[in-house]
Amino acid sequence: MSDDGPGAAFEHLWTPYRMAYIRGEGKPTGPHDCPFCVIPTMDDEEGLIVARGTTVFAVLNLYPYNAGHLMLVPYRHVPDYTDLTSEEVAELGAFTQTAMRTVRTVSGAHGFNIGMNQGSVAGAGIADHLHQHAVPRWGGDTNFMPVIGLTRVLPQVLKETRDLLAAAWSGHAVRVPSSIHPTTASPSAHPTTASPSAHPTTPAGT
Ligand SMILES: [Zn+2]
Repeated sequence: MSDDGPGAAFEHLWTPYRMAYIRGEGKPTGPHDCPFCVIPTMDDEEGLIVARGTTVFAVLNLYPYNAGHLMLVPYRHVPDYTDLTSEEVAELGAFTQTAMRTVRTVSGAHGFNIGMNQGSVAGAGIADHLHQHAVPRWGGDTNFMPVIGLTRVLPQVLKETRDLLAAAWSGHAVRVPSSIHPTTASPSAHPTTASPSAHPTTPAGT
């Protein structure tokens, strides 16, 4: 068996997602046409939200590449990793760790593909709102799920998966150090936190 590597994995990952979009599923209506902005307004069960943080939430992918495929998403509608504040970067990292620990505990995953596609040219299905994928892998899972079969069984599977992960999440939660939060950071004690001169690039915001 050859290792396809993460590149091939992510390519396959997005195929069912794109097909679903071609069929018009999951497209929100309204002035702000972004699923990752709409999902947090839903209740957890409806939106398949596993956990909500201060700046980041964890949600099951509606069109998963593999069982337990989570996405870690900042609430803010920003496209690029460099747009994130240090607080968002820290919580995105903490949520990624918690996602791995939770999925490992619940499902016994052997490995993960972790990462984000930056820009539609890189394969991002929703390029305007960045999201980190955490895709559990098992030995022998290299046969990709048939899309048709997947959509048929998915609603109940996703609901049950969400319930399992949400119940296990808090027991594995990785805390963001309080020092990373700007509200508690003192400039002298935390020189890495946002001094304008140290960060010549435009700060994320708006
Ligand atoms: Zn958005």
